[in-house]
Amino acid sequence: CKIDYRPPADLLAGRIVLVTGAGDGIGRAAALSYARHGATVILLGRTIAKLEKVYDEIEAAGGAQPAIFPLNFEGATLKDYQDMAETLEREFGRLDGILHNAGLLGRLTPFDQYNPQLWEQVMQVNFNGPVWMTQALLPLLKASEDASVILTSSSVGRRGRAFWGAYAVSKFATEGFMEVLADELENLTAVRVNSLNPGATRTQMRRSAYPAEDPDTLRTPEEIMPTYLWLMGPESRGVTGQRFDAQPPKG
Ligand code: NDP
Repeated sequence: CKIDYRPPADLLAGRIVLVTGAGDGIGRAAALSYARHGATVILLGRTIAKLEKVYDEIEAAGGAQPAIFPLNFEGATLKDYQDMAETLEREFGRLDGILHNAGLLGRLTPFDQYNPQLWEQVMQVNFNGPVWMTQALLPLLKASEDASVILTSSSVGRRGRAFWGAYAVSKFATEGFMEVLADELENLTAVRVNSLNPGATRTQMRRSAYPAEDPDTLRTPEEIMPTYLWLMGPESRGVTGQRFDAQPPKG
């Protein structure tokens, strides 16, 4: 946990960073924060109007001109990821980072009532989609001198909990993928791969999971950005295959 990290203003200067689920919640805060620290941010998400708002905010703050990449992990095909790689190759020639942040909660349900379609949907958005997107973008990451892949996990991706179903399983799968990919790339490339659990954070997803909770008791997405910046920036170079938390443990 690097919550006390104070990044220099130019931490990500010249870097090209893709953020998925950049239109809302933690992804939105990360996109704004990365741009404020000098990155050219590629904003990926399914709701274009939200991405456009983030785009405008970055421009208004004087950040490097971002790019918008509309994509819905639910319907996206391998060809979409390949086309995406070709577009980014043409526009930028490389990628210095990916923050895999887009996520779907599904519904907290006892397993014997869990809807199989919803299960597939959550696995698609939280795990399978990001995996195949990463495969397509790997050549672009390898073209970078120092690339960081951050996979978003959760406390239920490290210890299972009743009723969390596909969401928890997708996060466990994410942790496994992180270890496999990190181990494969270590010593061979300048691409590092780590997982990051944001911890309880004031967003729409958290509100859906805990409707009775007072949101004011939670940290905001902005407050958890130090770890997101540290892991994306040059100071975490050489760190790979590790699990991080964006907030200190409670208690
Ligand atoms: P939000 O629901 O606020 O934001 C999720 C983002 O993912 C939205 O921008 C959403 O787009 C996007 N998204 C959802 N489905 C798709 C899809 N099919 N294709 C493309 N984009 C999609 O969630 P948070 O900001 O809270 O969560 C961010 C990440 O952090 C997630 O991976 C979540 O699992 C994880 N997390 C969050 C915690 C918390 O307390 N908030 C705790 C632990 C982990 P749109 O805006 O269009 O819906």
